[in-house]
Amino acid sequence: MSVAIEASGVSAVFDQRVGTFGVHRRVVAVDDVSLTVKEGIALGIVGESGCGKSTFARLLLGLLAPSGGDVRVGGHELQAMDRRARARLIQPVFQDPASSLNPRRRVGEIVALPLRAAGVARGERRERALLMLSRVGLAPEMAGRYPGQLSGGQRQRVAIARALVLEPRILICDEPTSALDVSVQAQILNLLAELRASFNLTLVMISHNLAVVEHVADEVAIMYLGRVVERGEAGSVFAAPRHPYTKALLASVLTPEPGLGLPELPLGDAVPDPANIPAGCRFHPRCPAAIARCATEAPARGDVECHLVQPVPT
Ligand code: SF4
Repeated sequence: MSVAIEASGVSAVFDQRVGTFGVHRRVVAVDDVSLTVKEGIALGIVGESGCGKSTFARLLLGLLAPSGGDVRVGGHELQAMDRRARARLIQPVFQDPASSLNPRRRVGEIVALPLRAAGVARGERRERALLMLSRVGLAPEMAGRYPGQLSGGQRQRVAIARALVLEPRILICDEPTSALDVSVQAQILNLLAELRASFNLTLVMISHNLAVVEHVADEVAIMYLGRVVERGEAGSVFAAPRHPYTKALLASVLTPEPGLGLPELPLGDAVPDPANIPAGCRFHPRCPAAIARCATEAPARGDVECHLVQPVPT
């Protein structure tokens, strides 16, 4: 199985000015992450808000140039590819279809737009757009409607059709169900699973919710304050999490708060701040298993980044 995505030592660092006096902050959103995704695999990337997962998605899409390291997609250096070549290889689906779809264009035009940008002839554009709408479960008459005339679930189907109309090899979905009603979320996840199989896609699914990722992922990467702190085969990570942060995330899924999308994590009040990453293990202020060494010494790099977890012999 060849490699679809290879991120090597990728970082994203931003300088921010905040407050009335423009106080300077250096934000390390992604910190030296290396990760490969094999062709045809569905990788779930999970973490709390602010863990760097959406910034990492933007790096994988080439929408953001890394501050360090590089991303290769299909064997090509992403930043060196032109936009057309990139669009044929990798496409995004974002969280909120209401803001990612142009409200002044009809659905048919929205889905056909990537084909126009790729130089496909007008007649063929229409035919392929209608075909793709049917693949995502939308009737042909939807092509004449505006996004504002559709439900949230229908809008996300349009966004998926637009992403797939060029038949890319890789789809990056950043919280694709978070803006939807609970009743529609499973339908969209099922649709993504179906389309992944029929288009033989490599899929990266980014979510704050392990339950969403569990639905589709073969492999999982858990992010905390810009680092991947645990990665592995999804079934193993869900059945026997090894990093204390993964355990806390799983505990939050097992004891959800009714009516709330994101349950409180059993981790105390220390909200993680990418502009103020703790010394030692970055998770130590919240870690229920922390030992003295954790405050001063960062754990070794590996599949599980924790002093208490021994590497699995290869
Ligand atoms: Fe917790 Fe220490 Fe492991 Fe970090 S290294 S996750 S603080 S036990």
